[in-house]
Amino acid sequence: MRYDESSPPLPESATSISPDRPWYARRSTLVVAVAAIAPAALAGWVLTEVLSGGATDDSRPPRIVMPLSASASASASAPSASAAPAASASPAPGAAPAGTPGAAPVTSVAKPLAGRTVVIDPGHNTGNFKHTTEINRQVDIGTNRKECDTTGTTTNSGYMEAEFSMDVSRRLRAVLEAQGLKVVLSHEAGKERPFGPCIDERARIGNEAAADAVVSVHADGVSAGNRGFHVILPAKVKGGGADTAKIVGPSRQLGERIAGNFARTTGSAPANYLGSGTGLVVRDDLGGLNLSTRPKVFIECGNMRDAKDAAQLTSPEWRQKAAQGIADGIVGFLGG
Ligand code: ZN
Repeated sequence: MRYDESSPPLPESATSISPDRPWYARRSTLVVAVAAIAPAALAGWVLTEVLSGGATDDSRPPRIVMPLSASASASASAPSASAAPAASASPAPGAAPAGTPGAAPVTSVAKPLAGRTVVIDPGHNTGNFKHTTEINRQVDIGTNRKECDTTGTTTNSGYMEAEFSMDVSRRLRAVLEAQGLKVVLSHEAGKERPFGPCIDERARIGNEAAADAVVSVHADGVSAGNRGFHVILPAKVKGGGADTAKIVGPSRQLGERIAGNFARTTGSAPANYLGSGTGLVVRDDLGGLNLSTRPKVFIECGNMRDAKDAAQLTSPEWRQKAAQGIADGIVGFLGG
């Protein structure tokens, strides 16, 4: 859930892209689809500004992007192993069978991402509901003061955003660790943290880990009919301990990678209620972004209050696809 719920959701009519149009899933029509979407997205943005009276919480108009730009490289398949049968069909004298040490040096693939660090920040904490006094404490976010943390939202049937974010974060950690990355979770609710951490500490954990990328995992809680995912990018802010000038650029690159890959792996469309169909939103009011000195984004994976989105968010299979998409985006950003 967005930390700041002061802005009412935009009416669905603000959308420029129908969620029923699976343009993101049809790679063969990518060029045509993108060409068609760019003007539509721009029109959607203008409409959004009109409908909201210009009072969106974005500090500047979102740049029109093509989230699929990241998917091509991230989904490139590995070369086929057709060389292996050929080699075994005509063994050279003294050749060792495949799999024997020294037989095929190229198969000992170096992990280019080894030594890189990713911090995953599971949004909220399942214990926050029982610690409202503690999480309502105000903390300094540089540009402002804000609640330490919030409870997050739930589906109509009671599945907590905090459960969702922790589950996706753990799946994401497993995928990234398998690729040789060092992964730090900002917390593991219930284990060592009865509530929180506070948003300033969430940022500090990424900073102190010298993370190469930080992703905060959430799901939104707005009225039914609003659907889809969006990635939140840091605005350029400066004030107190906040100075995002150095992370705005790389965070956008990270966010674009994640948005494109998330759409590809989950089949979900970019949000139809904000972001003008790009799946990207810039915000200047989130302490977790304002206080970060490392490339960082939030992802709102869907709307827990919409029945169709909730059906996906409560599915373990879908959450695995979500984790895979986020991971592919991170790996693409890191050049792996
Ligand atoms: Zn949230």
